[in-house]
Parts: sequence; C-alpha cells; structure tokens
Amino acid sequence: MKTERDLVIIGGGAAGLAAAQYGARANLDTLLIEEMAPGGQALLIDNLENYPGLVEPVNGYDFAEKLKAQAENFGAEFLTATVSSIVKEGKRFRLETNEGDFLADAVILATGAVHRHANVPGEEEFQGRGVSYCATCDGPFFKGKRMLVVGGGDAACDEAMFLSKLAEKVVLVHRRDVFRAQKSLASRVLSNPKIEVRFNTVVREIKGEKKVQSVILEDLVAKKRYEEELAAVFVFIGSDPKSALAGDAKRDEGGSLLTDDRMETSVKGLFAAGDVRVSPFRQLVTACSDGAIAAHAAAMHIDEIREHR
Ligand code: NAP
Repeated sequence: MKTERDLVIIGGGAAGLAAAQYGARANLDTLLIEEMAPGGQALLIDNLENYPGLVEPVNGYDFAEKLKAQAENFGAEFLTATVSSIVKEGKRFRLETNEGDFLADAVILATGAVHRHANVPGEEEFQGRGVSYCATCDGPFFKGKRMLVVGGGDAACDEAMFLSKLAEKVVLVHRRDVFRAQKSLASRVLSNPKIEVRFNTVVREIKGEKKVQSVILEDLVAKKRYEEELAAVFVFIGSDPKSALAGDAKRDEGGSLLTDDRMETSVKGLFAAGDVRVSPFRQLVTACSDGAIAAHAAAMHIDEIREHR
C-alpha cells in the first residue's frame, strides 16, 4: 500500500465516508483509516428515515455500506488500522499506525464522539429496544407513549422539547436541582405542559422483557426509590469527543475541535468533520455535509501548498 498520500481521513463514520467520496472524486489520492468496520453510529440505526431523499426507511448498516461503496467507486482506499499519532513535518503530516507510517498533505479527523452512558442495569441490554441516545432517530418509534429523558444540559432540554411533540408525556430527570442548560431553553422546558421535570432524581435500573417497560428512579432528597412505567429512555448526559489525535488544535471546554466554516482546525491542513468537532446539530446529514466541506477545503489546501513548493 502506498504510504505517501494527498489526503488521509481518520474515522469511517458518515463524515469520514462522505469526505472519502468527495476527496477521491476531486482526484485526491485518498486513504481512509478506520479501526473497526466502517459505518460509525449509522450502524446502530435500525430504520434510517430522516436522511433527505429516503422516502422509504433504510437500515443504517446498508446505508453505511453504500457510502463506502460510493467512495471506493471514486477511487478512495480503505485501511483497517489504529492511528496512534499525527505529527506535523513541515507542511505535511506523519501518521503513525499499527500498519506502519503514512505521510499526508492534508488530514481529516472524523473520529466521532462517544455518548456517555448512565451505566445502570438494563441500559446495555435494552439499547435499540427502548434505550436511545438520539431523539430524532428513535423518538418517532414511541409516539403516544410515556418517555424518560435523563440529563440537565442543552441536549437533554432540546431533545425533551422535541420528544414532547411525540410523547403522551415526557418525564425529565436531572441529578441536581438546577439545569446546566441555557436559561431560555430550561424555562421553555419548565413551562411545557407535556414535560414533567423531576430534579434531584436519578435512574437506578431499566426493566422490561423484550423492550423497555419500566424504570426504577430514585429521589435523592427523599432517598426513595420507585418504579414507573415508561416505554423509552433517552440518555443525554453529554458525550466525549475522540479528539486526542488532534494534538494542539483548539478545542471547546468539552474537548470538541473548533473549526472554521471550511472545517479547518487551528492547525493548518488538519480538518475535522462530524461529531468530533463543535457543532450545533449532530445528524447523519450534517456529518456528511461536514465531510464534503472538509474534503473540498483539503483539496484547496493541497493546491495552495503545492503552488508554494
Ligand atoms: P453537557 O452540557 O455536558 O450536559 C450534560 C448533563 O448531563 C449535565 O446536566 C450533567 O449534570 C448530566 N450528567 C452528566 N453525567 C451524568 C451522569 N452520570 N448521570 C446523570 N446525569 C449526568 O452535555 P450536552 O447537553 O450533551 O451538551 C454538550 C454541548 O453541546 C454543550 O456545549 C451544549 O451547550 C451543546 N449543545 C447545545 C445545544 C443548543 O444550543 N441548543 C443543544 C445541544 C447541545 P450536571 O449538570 O450535574 O453536571
């Protein structure tokens, strides 16, 4: 395999796959490195129904396979490997991997983020069967039912507002007595008649047979546990971006990479796309859009550095 490349993309989720397609189609010698099967979070989606143009829902796995095939058709190459470091050498980047070193003129980090889990019994077991980390993706499956939202930040409040349009009722539990979310958003949640906010309350267990049926909650002030019938549990307690490879690139306080509108980080030639970067809305469509912009900007960056070589 060639070790000197125009563009290396790290991460094979939707952002990385879209970047690979756009990079290869722009005639860049493009390599995508992913440590697992390509697809990222799309692989967890049973019925993908909110990607523009999909009139009939498709399985997330099939969708990811198509993204990969499309990138390959345009000439992108794929490598299964783990990248351990990215070091700038002059205007190029050296990537150290367990399959050897690669040199690239531009790098796109599309390594994503991991949703924090509540780490309670039943959470892993019922993932995809009532436990979810994405209201837009899974909320419609529980239309007219009682849903639980866990968390007190912007994401929990935003998603509770979204779910309140679908649910019979949303119960929102937060471990403290005050929201972390922005005041305007928090007050909209508090005045929404479809949302019942319970402060100082945590989830202790998620129960059911084939799918979620009830949840054991604990009131931390009264020190009382009780069981309540709920059909879905949406966990929004933050996520951790996988940005460790970005070295000194600027981040927000949560560790997400700051980019300009061309997806370039504070390190010239290092781009970021998808959930690893600061973004107001995290969806498959926005990840693909980030990837396309990053690849386009990477091609422009490569033209620039070659003009000055
Ligand atoms: P976040 O701001 O870090 O909030 C996480 C929330 O989950 C906090 O309320 C935290 O409680 C709670 N929490 C953390 N670990 C927990 C645990 N183990 N058990 C129970 N609760 C736990 O995360 P986020 O809401 O995902 O937002 C991430 C970033 O995206 C933020 O910068 C946010 O502003 C931004 N965002 C913005 C918007 C918007 O502007 N509309 C929408 C979504 C996200 P404590 O408060 O007690 O720490």
